[in-house]
Amino acid sequence: RAKSEGHGVCRVFDRKMAETIESARALQRDLAEAVAAGALEVHYQPIVDLAGGNVSGFEALLRWTHPIRGPIPPSEFIPVAERTGLIVALGGLVLRRACRDAASWPSHMRVSVNLSPVQLVQPNFVFDVVDAVRSAGLTPGRLDLEITESVALAENTATRNALGQLRAFGVGISLDDFGIGYSSLSYLRSFPFDRIKIDMSFIRDLGHKEDAATIVRAAIGLARALGMKTTAEGIETDAQQSWLLAEACTEGQGYLFGRAMPAAAVRGFLSGAHRRRIG
Ligand code: C2E
Ligand code: MG
Ligand code: MG
Ligand code: MG
Repeated sequence: RAKSEGHGVCRVFDRKMAETIESARALQRDLAEAVAAGALEVHYQPIVDLAGGNVSGFEALLRWTHPIRGPIPPSEFIPVAERTGLIVALGGLVLRRACRDAASWPSHMRVSVNLSPVQLVQPNFVFDVVDAVRSAGLTPGRLDLEITESVALAENTATRNALGQLRAFGVGISLDDFGIGYSSLSYLRSFPFDRIKIDMSFIRDLGHKEDAATIVRAAIGLARALGMKTTAEGIETDAQQSWLLAEACTEGQGYLFGRAMPAAAVRGFLSGAHRRRIG
């Protein structure tokens, strides 16, 4: 009896597994089609200079609205794109689009582009970035590349050299999601980053958990001592903003200042921000 029940459980399990695999395949296929059709959009979230209260730039964030499932978050489709290698083409599209869009913004504003570790190890990586900047007519200093902590950089000399070449070209290099990745402190020694972006999980806990304030304060101090700027991610309240300003965090990003918006909305946002004096 136990044996036959066991078989039943197995059949249910197999069916669930098959469904999961099938829906993962469908997502992969739909994503590849959407990329080929140019159906993904690049949206822009403002980054604010905390001391002056001005918009200093925008982070490019991918948006995909699936024809049936509706909006799918990057946390779901980026890993799929990385697994299938599609991220190389997709990341290239984001880079070129972001440089072109930024070229139409006020000339002191930067654009930040997220890079996947998969892109960093491509042989054409440096050439592609330089080409995107040059074809857009963008000053290299207006592009910031955001990379997350990964083994790719820590253990790959070629990757570090590539980033070094881009930095020499004038592009900024930021360490994204600082504090939640692997081996954060030694990571800071692996490359001379221009800035670190403090992960929003710490910002969210400011004012609730005492250790969050201690960690954020230490991260800002550490970055400053190493000659790096700091951006706090996920600022949602005035209290978080004033605390970070008092701690001399350089920049902030979060729903308090604005969510990611389509490229066409940036101009209107900037004139509104100017009137509200956050920009
Ligand atoms: P990230 O680079 O750390 O981007 C910041 C994320 O935090 C964005 O989520 C943004 O919408 C969200 N965020 C910003 N402010 C707030 C806030 O005040 N509250 C809350 N709750 N969230 C806030 P999003 O757009 O869902 O992107 C998630 C991640 O997906 C990004 O994290 C990045 O790692 C990845 N991603 C997005 N676009 C690209 C891309 O073009 N290429 C690559 N490789 N990764 C991307
Ligand atoms: Mg980022
Ligand atoms: Mg981040
Ligand atoms: Mg992230």
